[in-house]
Amino acid sequence: MDKSSSTFCMYPFSHINVKLPDVSVAQCFRQPNLIHNVESFEVAFNDTIFKDIRKSALLGKKHPACNQCWEHEASGAISYRVKSLSDITEITEKEEQVILDTYNKETGTLDFTKVPFIELRVNRQ
Ligand code: SF4
Repeated sequence: MDKSSSTFCMYPFSHINVKLPDVSVAQCFRQPNLIHNVESFEVAFNDTIFKDIRKSALLGKKHPACNQCWEHEASGAISYRVKSLSDITEITEKEEQVILDTYNKETGTLDFTKVPFIELRVNRQ
């Protein structure tokens, strides 16, 4: 997989962010409400929107679900996308490659069983 795209971000390949108690999920905490009432985390992880975000990330396309990062980058700030390229230090390059090797570039799917991060966020309102 070529990660040199100007829009590549590691989060859609390594994370699923889950917001409780309504169990909505997204590719990262910057976009916390992408899919509601999920059937399972595995199904959500390979939902059409997740697959589209991954494909866009690799093809140099700015997916609208990632607008917060595009706006930060346009203003000169360091976006979470840019941080994701070096700051996800809890996994080694070898472990990262195990995940990325499961990517199907035709469909945009990944093997959910290899995903190392499930983030839980609790809405206390
Ligand atoms: S580009 Fe930004 S909004 Fe999109 S997945 Fe990466 S960190 Fe999240």
